[in-house]
Amino acid sequence: MTLFIAIALSALAMTLIVGVRYLIVSAGFAWGTRLRHPRLYAGLDRQIRREIGWSLASAAIYGVPAGVVAWGWQNRGWTLIYDDVAARPLWWLPVSVLVYLFLHDTWFYWTHRWMHRPAPFRIAHAVHHASRPPTAWAAMSFHPWEALTGAVVIPALVFLIPIHVGALALVLTVMTIMGVTNHMGWEIFPRWLVRGKAGRWLITASHHQRHHERYRCNYGLYFRFWDRLCGTDAGIGAFGDDQSGVRNAGRRAATGGGGGTDRRG
Ligand SMILES: [Zn+2]
Ligand SMILES: [Zn+2]
Repeated sequence: MTLFIAIALSALAMTLIVGVRYLIVSAGFAWGTRLRHPRLYAGLDRQIRREIGWSLASAAIYGVPAGVVAWGWQNRGWTLIYDDVAARPLWWLPVSVLVYLFLHDTWFYWTHRWMHRPAPFRIAHAVHHASRPPTAWAAMSFHPWEALTGAVVIPALVFLIPIHVGALALVLTVMTIMGVTNHMGWEIFPRWLVRGKAGRWLITASHHQRHHERYRCNYGLYFRFWDRLCGTDAGIGAFGDDQSGVRNAGRRAATGGGGGTDRRG
């Protein structure tokens, strides 16, 4: 019984950490948005309340498996997470971060693409696309079924691929920040990066916004590798003064012909 309580407390603590982390990071970037583009979220109050509600539900779905695994790591020696930097070659630190991001991206690409099929879209993924246009609060705005597909990735990877606890923290930080900034409605990264050579392989808001406009393209999370390989990359968009392109991207595009005619540059 005490074992059960200990595990439940770890799951609860992790849920609180994920939820509070979401609130702080999203609030920070929403505040930055208000300074930079004061009218960008005008009239979206109801949508933002819905985004926060779904995201907090997702926090529990992410927090429970993560909390159970964290308990097992601390108390039972589960997982391949290590805390002594010298335990593995130094080069593995950056490589493990890239491997984790690539595998997370791979999982995300294929599950996301599958969720654009009519049935899973209707049942689960429509919640995420109900944000038109998405805001900094939409980072974890997923139906519980979709949140579940995302929640298992990192807890599964830590059993399969060794990673230093600091490198894992970096992966989680990248995940959190990119989740928020990709939905924020404006580009935070400099033009030389987004439009330069590296930008051909990296996903930022300019790339993911186009997914929210046109639906059946740009499915990736961090890298454009799978989109480019599979012919689903529709390039990057440019943000206009208003977001009418996203707002007008009708539901017809959601599961139907896709492609979209709403070219916005
Ligand atoms: Zn999205
Ligand atoms: Zn989608």
